Amino acid sequence: MPAPSRDAAAIFAALATHHPDADTELAFRNAFELLVATVLSAQSTDRRVNEVTPALFARYPDARALAGADAADVELLIHATGFFRQKAKAVIGLSQTLVSAHRGAVPADMDALVALPGVGRKTANVVLGHALGVPGFPVDRHVLRVAARLGLIHTDDPVKAETALTALYPKAQWTGVSDTLILHGRRICGPTPSCDLCHARQLCPYAVTGARKARPAGARTTKARTSAKAATTATAAKAAKPPRARR
Ligand code: SF4
Repeated sequence: MPAPSRDAAAIFAALATHHPDADTELAFRNAFELLVATVLSAQSTDRRVNEVTPALFARYPDARALAGADAADVELLIHATGFFRQKAKAVIGLSQTLVSAHRGAVPADMDALVALPGVGRKTANVVLGHALGVPGFPVDRHVLRVAARLGLIHTDDPVKAETALTALYPKAQWTGVSDTLILHGRRICGPTPSCDLCHARQLCPYAVTGARKARPAGARTTKARTSAKAATTATAAKAAKPPRARR
């Protein structure tokens, strides 16, 4: 059984105190750049991607330019992100489809985005939520781990997790909650979590049981319920993220 929405709100409020400005850590100036950067981030780090994209976008600034690129040249430019042959093929291919099917623009539509080569729901949600002003809830390994420990989800399937999490939060918060869970997973709730530092520990089944075993969300202690109420009133919900560019 998923956590009630009031508990979900309290958990987000507590996590947001750690990461008040949670956002994607990928650098981009428009939806095309974020789309390509997100594809390159698979099996890599945002930092590594941010190191290669300035040169990549200097040479191939838009979909039309990248659609006509030589694969070997793109491979050289993105080599440091790993899986460079696969990724070069994907970013050239998605650029060609953007040109042939969307006049070179990135569509603000989930179905159209996942139809692009190398683009899955996570990438599509990143671009929708951060660059196109459409609510999106990217689910990655950090979201899966942290949300499960907190009792927000009871699945390791990304699509089922997205369905469960989007049912718990208002659309306007989807991208912010996802960004917050991702940063929490990177900085505090890693594979070995730092529960002693975590502001959500009294709301967290994984920590409250002390047994490192998540309990059903409805089985929290009185202390946890009290803390949930306090956290709900303590922190205002984050507002929707307007589309913006950042570099
Ligand atoms: S209390 Fe521990 S397991 Fe729970 S969210 Fe915080 S860091 Fe993760």
